[in-house]
Amino acid sequence: MSEDLSKHTTLRVGGPANNFIKAANEAEIIAAIEAAGDNPILILGSGSNVLISDTGFPGTVIQIANNKVAAEVDACSGATLNIGAGENWDDLVATSIERGWAGLETLSGIPGTVGAAPIQNIGAYGHEISEFVMRVRTYDRQTKALKTFTNQECEFAYRDSVFKKNPGRYVVLEVQFNLRRGELTDPITYAELATELGIEVGQKADVIKTREAVLRIRDRKGMLLNPSDPDTFSAGSFFTNPIVSENLIPEGAPKYPQGDGTFKTSAAWLIENSGISRGQKFNGAAISGKHVLAITNPGNAKAADIAALAMQVKDAVKLKFGIDLVPEVNLVGLTLG
Ligand code: NAP
Repeated sequence: MSEDLSKHTTLRVGGPANNFIKAANEAEIIAAIEAAGDNPILILGSGSNVLISDTGFPGTVIQIANNKVAAEVDACSGATLNIGAGENWDDLVATSIERGWAGLETLSGIPGTVGAAPIQNIGAYGHEISEFVMRVRTYDRQTKALKTFTNQECEFAYRDSVFKKNPGRYVVLEVQFNLRRGELTDPITYAELATELGIEVGQKADVIKTREAVLRIRDRKGMLLNPSDPDTFSAGSFFTNPIVSENLIPEGAPKYPQGDGTFKTSAAWLIENSGISRGQKFNGAAISGKHVLAITNPGNAKAADIAALAMQVKDAVKLKFGIDLVPEVNLVGLTLG
């Protein structure tokens, strides 16, 4: 079936795919991969972290739609959840909190699917999913066999994993999580979140209130998809926060030690201080009016416009600070520069 990919990405851009398959369960996903043989495959979840070229994709696009949820609850060790890769991430967070399980609350409102989450080890406000993942079940396109990874084998790092390091090789089918029972969070380490909760950094908070606070912060930053607000039609943060040596971090920029001599700084700070402003436009594309890290399609952008604006941002930061911003968004059929 031929399909217009702009209907399946949150940036609302992307040309056609001649072969588009929506796979509703594991067997359908594997059958679609095997039928594609050695031809290129693009795995799509909810299309929230991808920029697809205006010429589309010249192979098979498989939309992962298996959203099976299974939970085993133990009064002592909490809950073990087996979640299909196609389940919506935030639905899982909401359900886990409703059922009295703690851990995922600071990861509220991140767009995307459960299957995409371990690939870049999603994280926010002091927690990453690597803390909660027990196993990741995949299909290995190289050996043409199922392969399950333990947490350690996932090689999780900041927005990174073995899956990201081997692009196209592993298709995530299911993720197993372990969550504790509890009404309180771990100590809150992020000042912005502590302020929103009305507590001091280092204090614990109510899990439900923490989810609500994270959703409010994300909403203010335009990082919650809102169908009635074109300023949120983006792929979230376009660039990752750079981890660099201390001498590269400009005076006044935030810096957080990584424990290995390197420091993480804020991509948003670098962008704003390199002369790029909120709302700045290039053809149909625009920097979000709420957060410089998001590049949006307020209506009529082409993928090429978004890529060109991203390139302007990357060039401005490189020129001013000598730091290379790395896209967090997956680029399909186009490059920056
Ligand atoms: P932000 O809160 O302005 O933070 C900018 C940078 O400062 C990030 O690298 C953040 O690290 C770091 N930082 C802030 N407070 C820190 C603390 N107390 N200790 C250590 N590091 C600290 O960033 P934002 O763009 O508005 O995003 C808000 C949160 O959502 C961040 O945690 C960000 O990472 C997360 N986020 C995640 C994804 C994803 O998983 N794909 C996408 C967008 C945003 P961290 O990045 O380690 O938090």
